[in-house]
Amino acid sequence: TETKPVRLNSVIDEALMLLSPRIKRSEIEIVIERPAGDPVALAGHIRLEQVVLNLLSNALDAVGDRADGIVRLSLAETDEHAVIEVADNGPGVPQDAIANIFDPFFTTKEVGEGLGLGLSIAYKIVHDFDGTLTVSAAPEGGALFTVRLPRCDTAS
Ligand code: ADP
Ligand code: MG
Repeated sequence: TETKPVRLNSVIDEALMLLSPRIKRSEIEIVIERPAGDPVALAGHIRLEQVVLNLLSNALDAVGDRADGIVRLSLAETDEHAVIEVADNGPGVPQDAIANIFDPFFTTKEVGEGLGLGLSIAYKIVHDFDGTLTVSAAPEGGALFTVRLPRCDTAS
């Protein structure tokens, strides 16, 4: 897979812009955390944007129409990785579903509401970039998805 330096700030800005009509219609609070630096990953811009869109769209679904819905999008960097986190305060992923959520066509949504492809596509894309996509429990109470990608130090 061909990779290029990709600024995570620009990826999340574009994903948020594409989802802004849906976000504005909802009452969901979007919290964005950007580190002082500007994390750059070795990846592909459009495909990474697809990953963020799929994770954000799931987080918005999970929060649904609850009045105090929060979706948090955080960027971070470690010595080796550029990191994107998407967390929500929805119901979380049920224990018995965790093993299956990255499988194609696995969905717990009603017929017509979800094809069950978003996470499997995200997983494939992230792994094509030699990254990882994991799920855990969010401090907010719902699900926390973490994308770790090889970091690129020079945005050349
Ligand atoms: P779809 O959104 O079409 O159901 P996905 O592959 O995007 O398909 O997600 C698969 C399943 O993973 C969802 O149906 C849901 O059960 C679970 N899931 C994904 N994101 C979340 C989340 N933020 N909170 C709770 N469950 C989630
Ligand atoms: Mg989905």
